[in-house]
Amino acid sequence: MPSLTRDEARQRAQLITVTRMEVDLDLDRGAEHFSSTTRIRFSCSTPGAQTFLDLRAVSVEAIELNGTRIEPGAVVDGRLPLEGLAADNTVEVTATMAFSRDGQGLHRSTDPADGEDYVYGHLFLDAAPTVFACFDQPNLKAPYAVTVRAPEEWVVLGNGRAAQTGAGEWELSETLPLATYFVTVCAGPYVSVHDEHDGIPLGIHARRSLQGELERHAPQMFEVTKQSFDHYHRTFDVRYPFGDYDQVFVPEFNAGAMENPGCVTFRDPMLFRGAATREQVLQRSNTIAHEMAHMWFGDLVTMRWWDDLWLNESFAEFMAYTATSRATEFTDSWVEFGIVRKQWGYAAERAPSTHPVAGSPAPDAQSALANFDGISYAKGASVLRQLVAHIGEEAFNAGVTAYLRSHAHGNGELSEFLAAMEQAAGVELDAWSKAWLETAGVDVLALDREGTLRRTTPDEHPADRPHALDVAGFSEGSEVFRTTFTLDRDEAEVDGVDTGAALLLPNAGDLTWAQVDLDESTLAALPRELPLVEDATPRTVLWGGVLTGVYRATVDPRVALDVFTSVWPREPHDALMARVAMAFTDRIVPQFLPEAVADEARSRIADAALTAFDAADPGSDRALVAARVLAATTTDEDRLGAWVSGRSLPEGLEGDTDFRWAVVQTMARLGLADDALLADAEAADTTLSGRLAGLSARAARPGADEKAWAWSEITTNRERSNYELNALATGLWSSGSVDDLRPYAGRYVTDIPRLAEWVGADALDRVATLAFPSRVVEPETVSLVRGALGREDVPWGVRRSMADELSKLEEALASRSRWS
Ligand SMILES: [Zn+2]
Repeated sequence: MPSLTRDEARQRAQLITVTRMEVDLDLDRGAEHFSSTTRIRFSCSTPGAQTFLDLRAVSVEAIELNGTRIEPGAVVDGRLPLEGLAADNTVEVTATMAFSRDGQGLHRSTDPADGEDYVYGHLFLDAAPTVFACFDQPNLKAPYAVTVRAPEEWVVLGNGRAAQTGAGEWELSETLPLATYFVTVCAGPYVSVHDEHDGIPLGIHARRSLQGELERHAPQMFEVTKQSFDHYHRTFDVRYPFGDYDQVFVPEFNAGAMENPGCVTFRDPMLFRGAATREQVLQRSNTIAHEMAHMWFGDLVTMRWWDDLWLNESFAEFMAYTATSRATEFTDSWVEFGIVRKQWGYAAERAPSTHPVAGSPAPDAQSALANFDGISYAKGASVLRQLVAHIGEEAFNAGVTAYLRSHAHGNGELSEFLAAMEQAAGVELDAWSKAWLETAGVDVLALDREGTLRRTTPDEHPADRPHALDVAGFSEGSEVFRTTFTLDRDEAEVDGVDTGAALLLPNAGDLTWAQVDLDESTLAALPRELPLVEDATPRTVLWGGVLTGVYRATVDPRVALDVFTSVWPREPHDALMARVAMAFTDRIVPQFLPEAVADEARSRIADAALTAFDAADPGSDRALVAARVLAATTTDEDRLGAWVSGRSLPEGLEGDTDFRWAVVQTMARLGLADDALLADAEAADTTLSGRLAGLSARAARPGADEKAWAWSEITTNRERSNYELNALATGLWSSGSVDDLRPYAGRYVTDIPRLAEWVGADALDRVATLAFPSRVVEPETVSLVRGALGREDVPWGVRRSMADELSKLEEALASRSRWS
């Protein structure tokens, strides 16, 4: 199927205006198919002209344009030509569509816990034509009137308020103008909780088997929703326009969540069934606030074309962290941003696929998907923080309000956003925008012991980025100096630096977008000094400096491990604890350390986890984080055996099914999980989560046969859902010797691209990332993947995933050759 190009979208938007969409869906026709009737009213500025409609159906039953029949065979490659248009037109299409299993379009799955079926619509990015006929591009917005027929015991939800009109008959109230990719319908025996705030009816919904979790978590989620509404109403000075606000937790969702106006969908593992740390709740709160920010940025004002995707994502990311840090209990949410989101973005910047925040070429819709990365989110949000520092918060908010008001219910783009900011601030932003929004690359900042701050810009992406930042020094926990200024050259003497401070830290407030190089004395002092620094923000930058130092081969991974083992057990912030440990267990140990020493490194991490666990208050978040790291790294068979049979469990983890699965995973990796143990674990947890965890554990067993089984399930079993593929790929690469795994480096480049025949791009890009041979850190893997990158038959998104994972593998190779 050809993906819509920007030029085609531009021409079509010049020619037609869609005035109303009527969609009738019949979801009561079995598990495979549903029927879809669409009536589209649209005007045409040049009567007599032609255009085309997007439609990806299993079969087309009838088409009528202005009362004249069109042969269903006229639909070719997902497009229906419409010729001889009048000034005002109606086209009606009746078709049979397929439910999906890959999280795109209308996804349908059976809950293994109770056999109930659930459906949800995820039409992002260009899946709308698999659900109804449409002009599928973000700037042809129209009001939607949707009806749904569903099995009688089902509940139906959607963008407009749902009303039941008969047995199994539902009508959704007509919406404000929506872009095609925002339309959703969720249907199934969903259960609900309701609330109300400031005149806005609120609902949260989940599968019936998650009712307990839903009821337990709803009060916290409602609270964050209400706090965020108040914050956004104050900040934007534009009311939330889309009526009821429903949040639906759906199965096997590819992303974190999707901002469908009035009906946001979330991945349902976020309804934590076991113990959850404060950081996990913070993350979910942040996702709630992120999707709410989209109601204004994205939904009310939509980007004209996908190349301005950053206008949606950077903004939602920036606004969400601002909202959670100011309006909720999570006043420290930027710490999580620093250690999770910025690390993700810096990795994207170091890869050859890096791109500017704004104006990334998206010649067609599909190619835009690849830019949903750490740059569009984390760098974009950091750049907006820089903009606020540059023009002041008052001007920034006034510019946002003006932009939202003047483009409400329509579309906007970079130039219009900047014009609104310039007008509000009374300054010219051309050079600033060129440096920060329109040029790729991340600078490295280093402060030396003479007090000179150096900015190094990557050679491949020359730029002159002004950094609003602060530098600070710390000794024995005290901040001995802090200087705030704008760095606008490659080298500057910083006033007030105490060069004798134990720790010297550029970007101490983590305000700018830059990787930091820690000087040698600072690095050497970390084991003693790091946990003494009281403020979590400079600790975030210090930990970040250690991690990016390893990835950039400027810090020996063994030195980093020494820092970790001595300092991490005393790290006070649970988000830093959890995330730094994850960086070591998931990347630094398996990739950067040679296989011969990786086991020893893992047991040092296990020792550190035990130290942290013993020192933590039983049942506290710290104890929980430490217990999870211990469960993932220990080789203590007695402990694992006790935990898996429910004995001597840490407080708060008694009966915690997810923790039990974590133990089972480790046992599987160590070759301690036989068929009986796995069958037991699966029988004890017949939920969707249980099925996925079971698959992952089976794939995690180290033998050659188990790996062969997992690979064949991933690459040949077309019944596997998106989540099942992810679980299998994760398990496969989590264990086994490099010798046993090596064959799958070759298989990867031949087998994974073929999945495109039955797996949608959004899901496949993730599979291509998770199935990448990241443990085979050898030059031969580089050659294999490089060969694949040049192949025409490898889909664009898969190539992007491959290129990004290859870049990480090359970082590991570079580090190994430098420090071996
Ligand atoms: Zn978003």
